[in-house]
Amino acid sequence: MRWNEITSLEFEEGVKKCEGVCLLSLGVIERHGDHLPMGIDYMKAYDFADMASKLEPAIVFPPFYIGSVTAAAFEPGTFALDIPLFLKVLDATCAEIARNGLKKIILVNAHGGNIVPIQTFLKMQLDSRRDYVVYQCSHSFGPKAAAAKGRLYKETGTDPMKEHGGAYETAVGLYLYPEMTKMDKILPPEAGADNPRLTNVLGLDVTTPIDWNAKHLVHLSGYGGDSTVEHGKEICKCIAEDIAETIRKVKKDNLSLALMKEFFDKANK
Ligand SMILES: [Zn+2]
Repeated sequence: MRWNEITSLEFEEGVKKCEGVCLLSLGVIERHGDHLPMGIDYMKAYDFADMASKLEPAIVFPPFYIGSVTAAAFEPGTFALDIPLFLKVLDATCAEIARNGLKKIILVNAHGGNIVPIQTFLKMQLDSRRDYVVYQCSHSFGPKAAAAKGRLYKETGTDPMKEHGGAYETAVGLYLYPEMTKMDKILPPEAGADNPRLTNVLGLDVTTPIDWNAKHLVHLSGYGGDSTVEHGKEICKCIAEDIAETIRKVKKDNLSLALMKEFFDKANK
């Protein structure tokens, strides 16, 4: 059930039908090689959430394209707000969703750079009292998606750790956004290979703010030239099923909010 496509009256009924569960998809706008649309992260996050809501009812918040993407700020078209502002907008968005009666908010994230800020965001939930729970849907979504992605990596001989504009996103692009996925523009495998210039100096135990940029010369990780629409279709189906399973679990959960209330009472917050 898409929040922006229903009437106010239908929304009220929808909150009850969906048992107060809202899906908030997260992604960004940044370069994804030369063959994928810059919005693929936020678009696919929304489409995954939308597909899942058809398997297990939930209200789907409109596409959300503010995220942590500062490392790509040098690429034309990147929309990079500061990370503290992203977290502030995300917090205000969750509060507004909850004010409308949706007290269980599941974050469906499809951008790697958001993973760490989201973990911080979850910790921030205990900073002040709130009457709702924010759940983080695993970035890998779940076991079905992991298996489908595993088959893709095996069949294309690609590295699962290299996924920015690589095999997985190209497969998803071919299935969900065929007219925007330009396989004739795909960059060669060397373009998405890791460059060890900084690890040669610091090793693997020392990290810096510029690691990603040092490693990825053209802001690309991986190669999608062997991905197919069939891979994309299977992966999307599995991701939707995994998210639907998360929605079912969240609907059954009455403990998280009770524990948060107990925490705020004890902490005098
Ligand atoms: Zn991406």
